[in-house]
Amino acid sequence: MKQMKPPTPVVGGMPRPPQDGGEATIRTTCPYCGVGCGVLASPDGRGGVAIKGDPDHPANRGRLCVKGAALGETLSTDGRLLSPRIAGAEASWDTALDLIATRFSGAIAQHGPDAVALYVSGQLLTEDYYVANKLMKGFIGSANIDTNSRLCMASSVAGHRRAFGSDTVPGQYEDLELADVVVLVGSNLAWCHPVLHQRLMAAKSARGTKVIVIDPRRTATCEGADLHLALAPGADGHLFNLLLCHLFDNGRLSADFAPHVTGIDVALAAARHSMPGDTGLSAANLERFLTLWAASEKVVTVYSQGINQSDTGTDKVNAILNCHLATGRIGKPGMGPFSVTGQPNAMGGREVGGLANMLACHLEIENPSHRAAVQGFWASPTMAERPGLKAVDMFRAVKEGRIKALWILHTNPAVTMPDAARVARAIRACDFVAVSDLWATTDTARLAHVQLPATGWGEKDGTVTNSERMISRQRAFLPAPGQARPDWWQVAQVARRMGFSGFDWAGPAEIFAEHAALSGVAGTLGSDFDISDLVDADYDGLAPVIWPQAAQKGGRFFGDGQFHTQGGRGRLVPVTARLPEALTPDHPFRLNTGRVRDQWHTMTRSGMTPRLSQHLAEPYLEIHPGDADRLGLAPATLAEVESPRGRAILRVMISDRVAPGHPFAPMHWTGETAPSGRVDVLVPGLVDAVSGQPASKSAPVSIRPFAARWYGFAVTTGDPRPDCAYWAKAPVAGGVQLELACHSLPDNWSTWATALFGGSAPTTTLSDPSRGLYRFAVVTEGRLRAALFVARDPVLLARGHLAGLIGTQGQGVLAGRPGSNQPDPGITICACLNVGQNTILDAVATKGLVSVDALGAALGAGTNCGSCRPELAALIARHHQRHREAAE
Ligand code: SF4
Repeated sequence: MKQMKPPTPVVGGMPRPPQDGGEATIRTTCPYCGVGCGVLASPDGRGGVAIKGDPDHPANRGRLCVKGAALGETLSTDGRLLSPRIAGAEASWDTALDLIATRFSGAIAQHGPDAVALYVSGQLLTEDYYVANKLMKGFIGSANIDTNSRLCMASSVAGHRRAFGSDTVPGQYEDLELADVVVLVGSNLAWCHPVLHQRLMAAKSARGTKVIVIDPRRTATCEGADLHLALAPGADGHLFNLLLCHLFDNGRLSADFAPHVTGIDVALAAARHSMPGDTGLSAANLERFLTLWAASEKVVTVYSQGINQSDTGTDKVNAILNCHLATGRIGKPGMGPFSVTGQPNAMGGREVGGLANMLACHLEIENPSHRAAVQGFWASPTMAERPGLKAVDMFRAVKEGRIKALWILHTNPAVTMPDAARVARAIRACDFVAVSDLWATTDTARLAHVQLPATGWGEKDGTVTNSERMISRQRAFLPAPGQARPDWWQVAQVARRMGFSGFDWAGPAEIFAEHAALSGVAGTLGSDFDISDLVDADYDGLAPVIWPQAAQKGGRFFGDGQFHTQGGRGRLVPVTARLPEALTPDHPFRLNTGRVRDQWHTMTRSGMTPRLSQHLAEPYLEIHPGDADRLGLAPATLAEVESPRGRAILRVMISDRVAPGHPFAPMHWTGETAPSGRVDVLVPGLVDAVSGQPASKSAPVSIRPFAARWYGFAVTTGDPRPDCAYWAKAPVAGGVQLELACHSLPDNWSTWATALFGGSAPTTTLSDPSRGLYRFAVVTEGRLRAALFVARDPVLLARGHLAGLIGTQGQGVLAGRPGSNQPDPGITICACLNVGQNTILDAVATKGLVSVDALGAALGAGTNCGSCRPELAALIARHHQRHREAAE
């Protein structure tokens, strides 16, 4: 076992005293992405909570992106699941927990332990994860527990284990600030890890870091880059194979590090099969990349879902790791490969063994001595002896009836899994399904026999681990609403009712201590994950801490040439790179999926606040102008996108940021927010053979115009489910806004509007049937309750203005835009300060602004969280480009 000194806390972790008559300010951690920003939450004592970035948290040093900054607006308990329900009827906790225990025990008794499964989430805290994994692997005796992190970074885990012998992220965030070159591959860091991107941009300003973005799309991250390589989709393995050859051919391999690695010859032999033409890059751009990477000792390669979400994701990861291992550029300040995780606690889940093919504390399920050590520690009656079902296989087993009882915690697989419609049908048909969530209305929770109310962010207590291995506390600062209970408690209660002992913790501190103690056992077996010095830590006051502690390893791994493989040497893995399967005439486009700047996953939290919905309020298809032309798709119309798996209707956004043949669509919308806009119904269940991670970045699709007979826009204080083929809902202050369209006309528009408005007949109407124009408003007691605008073409309106009229007298609402003395600010770009695109372009033109800072000084845009700065830079650049072109 490694002897470690007591950890040196990075910052103090205790709550601050009350200020301004409110309650104590609590240090906690953002629940969204893997950056893991520290948050100061200050309840005001009147139900509100002020949110600030924690200046003392090392991950963000006071910064927050717009999602984090808006957290205080997402804490309403309206509509929450507040008591257990069985078949939709309220039940006591005892009844619900007994039922789950009975159904799980019954399925196991009748069909064996592999007939039950848990599907969990990177939203769980480490303590929740630990308890779920212990129950499944150590007491039920099956490894059928997998997590939605399988969809996010399983290929990184597999690649790490092949190369390092352990799932170890070698570096730290500060390496991005110490590097001379940072390569971002398959990572839209500016939108998906905004605060880390801001740290990188600050380092670039301070020390001239060269930033290279490798992405088929020209994303917001490209705005801050020195070089954008629009790689052929899926060609990442070829690119890094070519880099390995270039490094070898130019004498750039490290002779000092060579004794610490194996496999260079076979890796090189495989890499020789990759050709420059495979990358789709120009010779000049390829040469620039190879030369810059080779010549820079301090180089960090950051990668994310663009690498992982592929059927060759693990190979791509290893192609990257090969280059760092061969040059010894790993685990030292300013150099190394760096996988950044999507979820807030994907890393914590990996640490406890939340993946179906891991044990606990990075131990191996296939290893008998590892199993024996964990079983001994848990004093458990049985132990899973082989890997369980990975996510896609798990839901396949559910569909085939092999899983008889399923418990889903804090995730929404009916929307997020590939082939999502089939997964939803499988869940619906399963003998028994329990769901623990904050909401009973998610697409998945609606399918459950038992719904358990869970505590959410601000109410629960525990730890999370971010992408750089930093463990931080999430602390409660609000009471649990209704009968909501923490997930660890729910799982422990079921375990006890199944007759198991060892599940009687008083709280998360005891669970964390047990987890830390088990990691000490793992350390004796050579695991990298040993936090046993935290067993007796002051849990309440625990400050953010990176493992291993600084005194031992400088917080990094492998710089000393010591790996966790059998011989202690890092392994280069031969990668025979291949491009994705060729497209067919029936499905000639390759759809790329991803995220938008201001939303998180299926929007169950981020979708609660109008602020985060102003930027991009509906599902869309970003498509190249040439493709749009050929298909007859006009801007802002709708496209019907079809794959062999399903069909979606998406708003057309024409843009040369995507390559011809490779459109993009975001994945956030659900049956609750845009039933026709669910993108994962299009994604095939294709997985990487090593990691089991789905290839969510590549869905073959056909595209055609959606034959809309009418388009509509509505604002309303109600919450309707419109009767039309396409609708998308977004919150606005005082209600919702709706985008609408259909291929058939209603018999009577006034009747249709009345139904949309929840039975309230329009009080004001403006119509021109010859042009297909209809406008309706409902004003009651002097206040605007709802308005609907219908036209044959996409409805041109000042949407922000209309949303702002709800609850007012609604004067002039049917005009659809403000009076001539009130300019339309346009779509929101800066969500913090509510600055619209038209306002920005006007200021750039009239004031001659040439920089984001100048724009910030003029309008404030981009001066708060900074998430919009790349888009502001793009708007300024585009304006001046057009200006120059017009002048020529
Ligand atoms: Fe939260 Fe934004 Fe920080 Fe991610 S970057 S942890 S979403 S504040």
